[in-house]
Amino acid sequence: MSLERKIEQTVAVLKEATRDYTPVVFASSLGAEDMVLTDLIVLHRPDIGIFSLDTGRLPQETYELMQEVRRYYDVPLQVYFPDGKLVEQYIAQHGVNGFYDSVESRKACCFVRKVEPLRRALKGKGAWLTGMRRDQAVTRGTLEVSAYDADNGLQKFNPLLDWSINEVWSYIRQYDVPYNKLHDQFYPSLGCAPCTRSVTPGEDVRAGRWWWEDPASKECGLHASASVAHGTGVQPVNFQRSKAEDKAEQKVPA
Ligand code: SF4
Repeated sequence: MSLERKIEQTVAVLKEATRDYTPVVFASSLGAEDMVLTDLIVLHRPDIGIFSLDTGRLPQETYELMQEVRRYYDVPLQVYFPDGKLVEQYIAQHGVNGFYDSVESRKACCFVRKVEPLRRALKGKGAWLTGMRRDQAVTRGTLEVSAYDADNGLQKFNPLLDWSINEVWSYIRQYDVPYNKLHDQFYPSLGCAPCTRSVTPGEDVRAGRWWWEDPASKECGLHASASVAHGTGVQPVNFQRSKAEDKAEQKVPA
């Protein structure tokens, strides 16, 4: 399928989302895929709000791109921060870099710095979009372009699900889309600075994310919140659990 056809299909998904689920927001991690989606949204569906989660541990290059997006597109990029009390509580329990100690400790950090702010960002929305692609990770093989997100209680769209990495970069080059300069330094997948390393040629694209963990556990919880909420080791402050979360957590093995 040509790139033009892929673009048409993706724009059709954006239109479907806004037609059926307004208000719709896009959670941008500012990775390559998310910059393609940002470009398409600005051009075709500017009524979709774009937000990003600043975990407080992002690489400098990501902050530079955040600023560049604001300048280049002249659209507001809403930024959500973690709850300060939860961060303090996490650090008191686990240490400032406690995420290296165990999967549970790492997921607890992702919960505080990503999942809880995401839930605030999605509150009151009809649908949210992500830039996830199917072949990015073993954990993403069963995703659908559109599905109900029971954890967050709204529809979730993955408009780039069937794009290849080559198509993503063809789009970026062809349409001169700004991107994170770390991608030029062998960082195909970007996240927080202490949890992301560069990869060597031939390595899996997500090999640099939480490289000390088994690939099957490599999600931050933004897309598998039930497993993250389980065993966070942090008692959320002023955080209301939904029935959907309670139900989902029961399915997570101890
Ligand atoms: Fe914490 Fe690392 Fe998750 Fe960022 S990626 S929220 S630093 S564990």
